[in-house]
Amino acid sequence: MTAQWAKTIGQALRYWLLPGACLACHRLLAIDQESLCTECDRILTSDDGPVCHRCSGSVGAGLDTSTGCHQCRQERWNFDRVVRLGTYGGPLRDLLLRMKQPSGESLAEVVGRRWAEQMCPKLAGNRMDLVVPVPLHRRRQRERGFNVAECLAVALAEKLGVACLTTWLRRVRHDPPQTDLSPTQRRANVRGAFVGRSDHRLRGKSIVLVDDVLTTGSTAHEAARPLRDAGAASIIVAVVAHGR
Ligand SMILES: [Zn+2]
Ligand SMILES: [Zn+2]
Repeated sequence: MTAQWAKTIGQALRYWLLPGACLACHRLLAIDQESLCTECDRILTSDDGPVCHRCSGSVGAGLDTSTGCHQCRQERWNFDRVVRLGTYGGPLRDLLLRMKQPSGESLAEVVGRRWAEQMCPKLAGNRMDLVVPVPLHRRRQRERGFNVAECLAVALAEKLGVACLTTWLRRVRHDPPQTDLSPTQRRANVRGAFVGRSDHRLRGKSIVLVDDVLTTGSTAHEAARPLRDAGAASIIVAVVAHGR
């Protein structure tokens, strides 16, 4: 019996005994699907058009964004650039909101692995030494039970074959959610919210800073500050979705 046959029979038996449901939408899975149905998997693998090389916001086709787009050129960020999977809206937004539910950890891990695969070509050509997730304040982490950004960061680090520092950066202020704030309020809301450890692990290192969503960039900007202060050579922000 060939290995392929053994795998097919194994799948058929598992499906017959325990037909699985999609972790995201709960539709019944086809026999060859492990955790996500075809529709949900497509959300994580479809390309949604040209983006700015610097901020990763959507831009018109053929635009030169090597130094940024009209939305980000004036911004002075503590990170160098952003890579993303898609725009925060529609089915991708629904998927991210489901990941943030108390029961969303398994989904976040599965999405993290799929997202990490999609990030590799976007990050290719950059030096990458360490992956750091944007942390939650410990009170919010306790309420939710896990940090989506950490699930993503662990998956990305594994894919890149580098270390993931999950406790180096800490969020020291418990701020109200950013959702209903203006860009100026968002900036003020997160100023000084993050601190790093006082060691030299980041000196001269190229860091990938991971979060689920980037809207104005102010959270990533503040989270990158301690990394920059600790001597990081470069900081690329990797997110699932960008606000535009
Ligand atoms: Zn699904
Ligand atoms: Zn831009």
